[in-house]
Amino acid sequence: MNLDTPIPTSVPVLVAGGGPVGLATAVELRHHGVRCLVVEPRASVSWLRPRAKTTSARTMELLRRWGLAETLRSRAPLPVSWSQEAVFVTNLLGREITRIGACFGLDLAGSDLAAEPGQQAPQPLVEEVLREAVGDALLTGWQVSGLSEDADGVTVRVAPAGGGEEREIRAEYVVGCDGPRSVSRAAIGARYEGRQDERPNFNIVFRAPGLAERIPHGPAVHYWVLDPAQPGIVGRLDLKETWWCIAQGVRAENADPVRLLRTLAGADIDVEILATDPWTARMLLADRYASERVFLAGDAAHQNPPFGGHGFNTGVGDAVNIGWKLAAVLKGWAPARLLATYESERRPIAADTIEAAALNMATGAPELADPSLMGDAAEFEKVRPAVAEAVLRTKDSEFHSLELVLGYAYVNSPIVFPGAGERLPHRWLAPGASLYDHLGPGFTLLGDQNSSEAAVVTAEARALGVPLHVADLPDEPLTLVRPDQHVACRGSVPAGALRHSLAHDL
Ligand SMILES: Cc1cc2nc3c(=O)[nH]c(=O)nc-3n(C[C@H](O)[C@H](O)[C@H](O)COP(=O)(O)OP(=O)(O)OC[C@H]3O[C@@H](n4cnc5c(N)ncnc54)[C@H](O)[C@@H]3O)c2cc1C
Repeated sequence: MNLDTPIPTSVPVLVAGGGPVGLATAVELRHHGVRCLVVEPRASVSWLRPRAKTTSARTMELLRRWGLAETLRSRAPLPVSWSQEAVFVTNLLGREITRIGACFGLDLAGSDLAAEPGQQAPQPLVEEVLREAVGDALLTGWQVSGLSEDADGVTVRVAPAGGGEEREIRAEYVVGCDGPRSVSRAAIGARYEGRQDERPNFNIVFRAPGLAERIPHGPAVHYWVLDPAQPGIVGRLDLKETWWCIAQGVRAENADPVRLLRTLAGADIDVEILATDPWTARMLLADRYASERVFLAGDAAHQNPPFGGHGFNTGVGDAVNIGWKLAAVLKGWAPARLLATYESERRPIAADTIEAAALNMATGAPELADPSLMGDAAEFEKVRPAVAEAVLRTKDSEFHSLELVLGYAYVNSPIVFPGAGERLPHRWLAPGASLYDHLGPGFTLLGDQNSSEAAVVTAEARALGVPLHVADLPDEPLTLVRPDQHVACRGSVPAGALRHSLAHDL
């Protein structure tokens, strides 16, 4: 813990919490040249609590925008080409029932749909890459103990994580990324609304030398075990000997992790338990996301079941949305009322994500498990088609959710033009050269720059002091692209488009 680190008395933006979403917020602010301080109690990332494994194609695109996609990929223990499949089996060493390919957008390399395919990477690795990018703006060993807001700013009380004397930091704005038990959420009087699943879940991280070589189903990012004696999901954390497992319906106090893993395997495999982590799935959405100067992001604002891999990925979308808007206000190219559009744009996305993830959870390994699968070969073959059909029918949306991951749009936002708000449709201009690589950190005007409409937009940008990058791509329809790669308007860009997109007219 860096308790001796000098703590600033004031900072433009204080980010409470340095999980993936707080760190992403800081990286986004840095992308726009805004100084911030991330206050995080954990001295280092939690390697034995690798909750998220799926970094979505959209998050990878945003990492590319920050220059971090290759860093994450090069350090990810499971290369994206290693496997893109989920295999459904009776036991790890048992029979195969069916398989689903092209999971989690892992197959998108070279596709026009996205600038980056998804990537399997343990959450602590993602956090480590982001921590390095945040650099000395990360203050570890400290936590936010409270905050109070007034017309000019926010006074944030911070204290050493292990207890000790409080200090005060004055911030113009606070982004509360302090997770499920958010102090920031309580401070602004916001409340979670929703429900939690009754079924307990039990994660195990374990070493199993030689297990991979014994599994007859080939590489897979997920092995779904449909043995009614112990259904669950198992995957590799690396290509050495480390694995993860989610056992549903298991209470920590009753769990015998070694026996549980051997039942999943269907054999007395050698295992060494490295860590266990009980958790409950929650479908929760904060009733509001913001006060005047404090904004909630990530799990502090919403929680969804992990099935489909959306939790932190949705939070990274929050981080980018609030990050560029805070930069616009702090740099003086937008009025403070732009910040109110953070909640109106992001809260509906979280609501849709919670609904989709809850649907994914409704049919899990316990529901798909069938005692007849465990019978002799004839019994198995008799029941296999029906179980395989149920898997493909109910699990497709969990593994193929590009509509949600890439397709969300801010359609009802007051700052986008009718029919716009979607993520800029991606295409490759040449092998390896993404259309997105032509976007600037601020707004971008794509298309034929010789048009009179283009001249009006560039003049407006100069007048408002808005950073506008122009990308002279005559084959593209004239498009005003926001800093978050979403379309403000497309086809025709009317006079006043930037004013509208930055809430000057609201
Ligand atoms: C089994 C499982 C699998 C999952 N798989 C995926 C997946 O594949 N893909 C995906 O996108 N998501 C997944 N998730 C969800 C993902 O783990 C969370 O959504 C993610 O951690 C949320 O990030 P966050 O930064 O918002 O919150 P957190 O990760 O909870 O981080 C909050 C941070 O705030 C800090 N903090 C707490 N209190 C304070 C305070 N008072 N002051 C300052 N700091 C504070 C904490 O130390 C922590 O670092 C999974 C979750 C589970 C349980």
